[in-house]
Amino acid sequence: MKNLIAGNWKMNGSVEMAKSLASAISGGVRDHGALLEKNDFLVCPTDLHISTVSPLLKNISLGAQDCSPFEVGAFTGDVSAQMLNDMGCSHVILGHSERRQYYAESNMMIKQKAVMANENSLITIICVGETEEEREQGVQNDVVSKQLSESIPDSANAENTVIAYEPVWAIGTGKVATIEDITSMHEHIRRTLATRFSDSRGMRILYGGSVKPANAAEIFAVENVNGALIGGASLKAEDFIGIAEAS
Ligand code: PEP
Repeated sequence: MKNLIAGNWKMNGSVEMAKSLASAISGGVRDHGALLEKNDFLVCPTDLHISTVSPLLKNISLGAQDCSPFEVGAFTGDVSAQMLNDMGCSHVILGHSERRQYYAESNMMIKQKAVMANENSLITIICVGETEEEREQGVQNDVVSKQLSESIPDSANAENTVIAYEPVWAIGTGKVATIEDITSMHEHIRRTLATRFSDSRGMRILYGGSVKPANAAEIFAVENVNGALIGGASLKAEDFIGIAEAS
């Protein structure tokens, strides 16, 4: 299976910045065409920049960073899965640890969002991962199992769902999980998915947490790592492409 190289731009950028980053990433993919043999690319700008970025992307999918758990109506501030689909998005990130932490998103809410996303033909990237405290207590596998079982809807399959393992303590901190820890958690996730989904072997499992060109090769070499969800390094076209070159 090809690696998915996914950029989460978070709440960054202006119209000008979004345009120049999208153009630079498209140019990088065009100039290194062989990368498409091994990789699929995705960028997730803010909702406000989706229409700016969309026409500039070539061979790169477009995604959002969240969607509403509701279909339509009086939900001030929300953006529905149907609207994202209408804007040309193919993917949506759900349950990122920043949303779990700052907006108290529960597994149940993430599952409801995922149902909406799947009903509107969006591929979900469902994020899971333990905090530093949970890892110190040795309960990371239990935490991730619970997130997987409660956040992923029954509608999930290998075509419409990607899992991203992102240890919370590794996001934006420069700390990367050890190769042993990544190997063991991705194996745990693969085994857990197999208990519920018949096509689980085809589900991509991304690693996320301070991925850079310098550490990407050893991470991509791990069995059951099928790409990366990239925050900080996705804001520099050179680094984003550099990560794909390592796969
Ligand atoms: C993320 O936000 O999903 C992420 C992995 O961020 P960073 O690459 O900056 O650690």
